[in-house]
Amino acid sequence: MLQTPYYLIDETRLLENMRVMDAVRQKSGAKVLLALKCFAAWSVFDLMAGHMDGTTSSSLYEVRLGRQKFGGETHAYSVAFADHEIAEVVSHADKIIFNSVSQLTRFEAESASIARGLRLNPGVSTSSFDLADPARPFSRLGEWDTTRVEAVLDKISGFMIHNNCENGDFSRFDAMLAQIEAKFGHLFERVDWVSLGGGIHFTGADYPVEAFCRRLKDFAARYGVQVYLEPGDAAITRTTTLEVTVLDRLFNGRELAIVDSSVEAHMLDLLIYRESARILPNSGPHEVMICGKSCLAGDVFGTFSFPQPLEIGDRISIQDAAGYTMVKKNWFNGVTMPAIAVKRLGGHVEVVRDFSYDDYEQSLS
Ligand SMILES: *Cc1c(COP(=O)(O)O)cnc(C)c1O
Repeated sequence: MLQTPYYLIDETRLLENMRVMDAVRQKSGAKVLLALKCFAAWSVFDLMAGHMDGTTSSSLYEVRLGRQKFGGETHAYSVAFADHEIAEVVSHADKIIFNSVSQLTRFEAESASIARGLRLNPGVSTSSFDLADPARPFSRLGEWDTTRVEAVLDKISGFMIHNNCENGDFSRFDAMLAQIEAKFGHLFERVDWVSLGGGIHFTGADYPVEAFCRRLKDFAARYGVQVYLEPGDAAITRTTTLEVTVLDRLFNGRELAIVDSSVEAHMLDLLIYRESARILPNSGPHEVMICGKSCLAGDVFGTFSFPQPLEIGDRISIQDAAGYTMVKKNWFNGVTMPAIAVKRLGGHVEVVRDFSYDDYEQSLS
């Protein structure tokens, strides 16, 4: 048995999501790019690259990783590029998407050799968290004034809009896209491509993929554009667990278990969005609060039910550990960094990366 903690990526599960990518590409005509800010564990990129068209990015390092480790079509986006980055960004990218008219104008000469786009902000979104809402008041994410955008149309060939967030409701997506068309449709007619961003949960179990694909295909035909999707979470959902071991048991009015991991260090988004982790099957008479080993008082994965009493040495699999998880892990408290293991299609588990004291030491100076 491998030493815990480790993230375990299951390629068989990943392939199930990739088959949905294939179906969407084929039925809708859309191109599908992996959003690296959600998931950048490149050991499984070879598998994914057979089913997705490329990557999109939010920084110089991501666009470089996408070009070097994934291949295919590589899009560069950033909230703001720096002067010293732009030449290298352009060297790695097929398209560059600017967040503002100001950045587009500033880097017009440097980006002339590749296709350019501009991010639009439609002012509507599905996020229930202000923190993650691209359409929040005073949002810096994209241009919304069509007059300002029209003035630079000759410099760009497409647009990117990202305003969905874990949206599994097709009718909501459909209605929002109609609002976007009402606002920007006259601009879409004058470009070659439109990216509708990520946040659409089309790999969900009951998602109406056929209707979704028809909607995208009609949209593409109406404006004469190539549609792109930029799935992050939808590409890797349900593929990965964080494997941990119980180190201690306490009873402080409630049954507690401490594991060899930390929410703050290894699944930070749960803390940021105040959500509980997920454990399966989460049923049985023994209720235990699963806690991390950092010093943070609120370092708690959640309270779960188990069929038997939990013992020191027992292993637990924490679900949904792929998206916004490995990309955010950190060295808080010097907690041992989870290794990354891949369960290959044939069934054998391969440790593709492990971390040592040296990595911890090298992370600072
Ligand atoms: C975050 C992001 C994505 C991916 O979002 P998911 O919710 O993980 O699908 C795609 N495009 C852009 C521009 C993003 O900021």
